[in-house]
Amino acid sequence: MTDSNDAEVQNALNPNPQALNEHDPNVARDPVCGMLVDKRAANNTLAAPVNEQGIGTLYFCSADCKALFEANPAQYGYPTL
Ligand SMILES: [Zn+2]
Repeated sequence: MTDSNDAEVQNALNPNPQALNEHDPNVARDPVCGMLVDKRAANNTLAAPVNEQGIGTLYFCSADCKALFEANPAQYGYPTL
């Protein structure tokens, strides 16, 4: 048995990340780096307090961005988690 390659899985879920449209309801913007993230394929999410924008869940492109956000949410315009 061979394990699935993570990159292959990611490509299958989201073959062309550059084609994401920020107006698509299935797409969110990573608050740290500004990259568009496909919510259906996102592995790095965080339940955020609902702010004035009404955002309850944050989506990150990577664990690194999530960690940066968690370290200092105020830097990205969010109250302390
Ligand atoms: Zn990011």
